[in-house]
Amino acid sequence: MLPCKLCGQRKKLIKAHIIPKQFYRRIMHGTPNLLKFEVDNVVNRSITQSGVHQNDLLCSDCDNQIGRYDDYAYEVLTRQIDEKKLHSFGRGLYVYEIGEIRVEIFRLFLVSLVWRAGIARDQMFQLIKLGSYEERLKQILLGKKSELLDSITAVIILFRPPKYPDIMWSPFCSKMDGINIATFYLPPWKIWLKLDRRPFRDPFDKFALTIGKPVYATVQDFWSKGEFSLLCDFHKRSRIAAGLE
Ligand SMILES: [Zn+2]
Repeated sequence: MLPCKLCGQRKKLIKAHIIPKQFYRRIMHGTPNLLKFEVDNVVNRSITQSGVHQNDLLCSDCDNQIGRYDDYAYEVLTRQIDEKKLHSFGRGLYVYEIGEIRVEIFRLFLVSLVWRAGIARDQMFQLIKLGSYEERLKQILLGKKSELLDSITAVIILFRPPKYPDIMWSPFCSKMDGINIATFYLPPWKIWLKLDRRPFRDPFDKFALTIGKPVYATVQDFWSKGEFSLLCDFHKRSRIAAGLE
């Protein structure tokens, strides 16, 4: 028996999702399957009924514990957007009022999400590289390094691109103004999770999750340069794979 990647005990390991299955279900709109594309030199297409999971990561106790964080995050990151909660921030910028949340639990969700993505084998998560954070995040989940949890924060973005709102893009690590972040897509939301001791730079420091403060998401209604080039690249490779170019 392999040990559970979280508690280390040799117990029966179960089918564990990397991104909570509720978020996949949300973009399926009642259809039986999702299309999963891997863009490399060729486009690999497969179908998935419940999203990417792995059978040798977690025991059921650990998966249940993480599942409670997933459930809470799913409540916070709602499917329905209430247009009344959109507020102008000046200069064409908008914010979305999420309001009071239990930041401690939501942060544990973020920690578990990025930790799972960091250890997952699936191609979808290949751009999540945690380095020394992998062990630190695990210690937080085990309740052993709570002081580290205080440095974990994120900016939530309501992502409303002009087209294709229901694509769950692969998460990736990058730098934003020199700060290490991991970006996750949980339609209609996008999350910038900070993996850095330094704070977010202005203006995003104002939107970072803070205990005791209501949460506001920033609204992004356009493709970033990176997202747009990813989409163009994907389009081009799919045409080549289909023999159209
Ligand atoms: Zn376990």
